[in-house]
Amino acid sequence: MDIFKKCYDFDEDKKVKEQGLYPFFQALESTEGTEVVMNGRKVIMLGSNNYLGLTFNPKVKAAAQKAIDDFGTSPTGSRLINGTLCIHEELERRLAAFMKRPAALVFSTGMQTNLGAISSLIGKNDIVVTDKEDHASIVDGCRLGLGEVKRFVHGDLDQLDRILGKIPEDKGVMVVVDGVFSMGGDIVDLPKLVKISKAHGARVYVDDAHSVGVLGGGRGTAVHFDMVKDVDITMGTFSKSFASLGGFVVGEEDVINWIKHTARSFIFSASLPAAMVMAAMAALDIMETEPEHVEHLWENARFMMKGYRELGFDIGKTQTPIIPIIVGDDEKCFRLWKELYEGGVYTNPVIAPAVPHGMALLRTSYMASHTRDQLVRALEVFEKAGKKVGVI
Ligand code: PMP
Repeated sequence: MDIFKKCYDFDEDKKVKEQGLYPFFQALESTEGTEVVMNGRKVIMLGSNNYLGLTFNPKVKAAAQKAIDDFGTSPTGSRLINGTLCIHEELERRLAAFMKRPAALVFSTGMQTNLGAISSLIGKNDIVVTDKEDHASIVDGCRLGLGEVKRFVHGDLDQLDRILGKIPEDKGVMVVVDGVFSMGGDIVDLPKLVKISKAHGARVYVDDAHSVGVLGGGRGTAVHFDMVKDVDITMGTFSKSFASLGGFVVGEEDVINWIKHTARSFIFSASLPAAMVMAAMAALDIMETEPEHVEHLWENARFMMKGYRELGFDIGKTQTPIIPIIVGDDEKCFRLWKELYEGGVYTNPVIAPAVPHGMALLRTSYMASHTRDQLVRALEVFEKAGKKVGVI
């Protein structure tokens, strides 16, 4: 059997392309953040994770440009050997303080952060318990760990309680959840999760990729719930609110030190380039000194939630600037995507396995920098497209 047979047989993409509905890998010809040019046409961007709208912020751009002058384009090596720059360490000190925790460690992407941090903590005698809607990087981080993986139905913390109750006391246990779930936009019930986990002696790891810059005045889920000391490890990424690339974990000194010396995605991969470090650092300065960006983000999110509900769209249980438009059927979802796109609005279609089968949705997300005029225009396009496709 030819190992490439599956590649030659794969035609899912071709079938959708033939119908003219293929929505993926659309190249941006130019972008100014809230509006982008694709296929020669300007569209309103409702599909990015640029929550604070900082990717074109003059201070962030200038910091990245200066970093290239100061440190060149790439450290060309691992943090362990030749790749640690003084600005990595400075960023770690700043992040630990911002997140109100003793120590931080910076990785080269958010994906690598979860792969390395989770797998390094889940040894042979350990068990990791995850929510079924956790991000793929958590799923893969757990797979790379040597211990056993158990999963509970999304948000079903009573099931989590039952799972934890059956684990023998001589096992190490960690519960890993998203702070804000990346597709549904709902926030984890941290008080209940912590209470249950503590009762069973389990550690808590929260992926705050979509929470930092968004919840808790930008400091994430633990601060949002005033439970900073109850979350053992918080993970974050720079590829969203921080307008950069990279990721980090914060936690107690010894735990971060363990990850630093054992996480394979950290040790065996080149460190974050200076331009990305300094863009993230500048975004951090802005989060600390200009609270208006987080406020604008929430004003925009609330305006859109109300708008979609009034139009009759099903936006599920979102509580954040991630607003899913739940369609159900894959083809209908692609049709709605295309109508919106042709109307001048870009969204992200999400189908199984990223969401359960029959739960296809358009993931929309908002930026502090979207203008009211852009959002009103987007709702008008949604109304027309939704009616045409029969979603409202
Ligand atoms: N965790 C979550 C919840 C995410 O949504 C993502 C990216 N979409 C990641 C981790 C990975 O982050 P990155 O894109 O920085 O690799």
